Amino acid sequence: MSEQRGTEISYLKDKRQRLLDELHSDEHYGATETIAYGEHDPFEAPVCACERCGTTPVMTKVQDRPARWLMVDSDCGHQAKQARRRPWEATLAWNMVNLNSYDYRDLPLFGLASLSPGDARERLVSIRTNLELRRKITGLSRVIGQRTREIEVPGKTYQERLDAYLQYCLWGLRLTKRAMLADDGY
Ligand SMILES: [Zn+2]
Repeated sequence: MSEQRGTEISYLKDKRQRLLDELHSDEHYGATETIAYGEHDPFEAPVCACERCGTTPVMTKVQDRPARWLMVDSDCGHQAKQARRRPWEATLAWNMVNLNSYDYRDLPLFGLASLSPGDARERLVSIRTNLELRRKITGLSRVIGQRTREIEVPGKTYQERLDAYLQYCLWGLRLTKRAMLADDGY
């Protein structure tokens, strides 16, 4: 290994260790409401109806190699801004621009059914922090594992699952924000 690459790897290892320390700290543990999100498969997302015309959109492959996906509403043309790499991402991206047709209490993950919008939001904020931390660590473990073989390279599916949980969480945050504004009479 060249000296420069060695320095880079040791920098990445230090960074990973700092993030692991944070993940395992009492403070982070205390601030994280839950890491048990529920049985629901995060790659399966409900598809919201179009908030403008009520249509259910159709999953469409808008590009080949690399594949890109977009939910297309052929009735009114409403769609997310960007096509996505994976179908589940395209579904969640669509849901995020059709917030009026879904209630955060119905989210199949994170146990929000009985919570007020404010409490649900607080719970999701803590979940987001934990997921972002675990995603960063997984990304670093991948690079370090591939270059040095000193640690196990995390599975692609594990990494993608964290991504899916995070996108779900961001969708939930938008839904709770909208519900809080509605409660305030906006
Ligand atoms: Zn529409």
